[in-house]
Amino acid sequence: MALDSLHKLYVEQLQDLYSAENQILAALPKMATKAKHAELRSGFELHQRQTQEQVRRLEQIFQRLGEKPGGVTCEGMKGLLKEGEKTMKEKADSDVLDAALIADAQRVEHYEIAGYGCVRTYARMLGYQQDIDLLQQTLDEEGQTDKKLTALAEQVVNVDAAFASGSDREVNRGGASRSTGTSRTTSGADAPSGI
Ligand code: FE
Ligand code: FE
Repeated sequence: MALDSLHKLYVEQLQDLYSAENQILAALPKMATKAKHAELRSGFELHQRQTQEQVRRLEQIFQRLGEKPGGVTCEGMKGLLKEGEKTMKEKADSDVLDAALIADAQRVEHYEIAGYGCVRTYARMLGYQQDIDLLQQTLDEEGQTDKKLTALAEQVVNVDAAFASGSDREVNRGGASRSTGTSRTTSGADAPSGI
């Protein structure tokens, strides 16, 4: 399909997101199984249900547009989930593995936020009011998920246990302000807000 209009770019980007969401749907149950902390596990399970709804929203948009959702593979998501697969095979402390799962999941969320931010804006430019509402709902869910992951990252890792056997203990702990409870996130992800 030649990209000779914003409408065509919009459809192509939606197809890419449809592929991404379906790949995520397939990956989330395994991530939930691997998560040690109950809150992280239930977070993944909740996001699985949200993702099913997000897929349905995209299908609704494709139906309205009279376009087919399939036939495209989102290579970016494929790569991100491949990294997640690698993480899950890692021999790791279970707290640290949770932190690694969060890091992988946040990359996925940020990728989705970028994609949905674009299509939501295109829908606005094209005047597709119903689509804007549907895409904004999904965008909000992705943003909330990302923020929740950032908060969880600070809770899940028992820092003392995690660093106890690390050879770089001094380096990692130096200057950390755990005792004052200031914002030192395990994932290092300061989520952008207001997207
Ligand atoms: Fe999603
Ligand atoms: Fe998501």
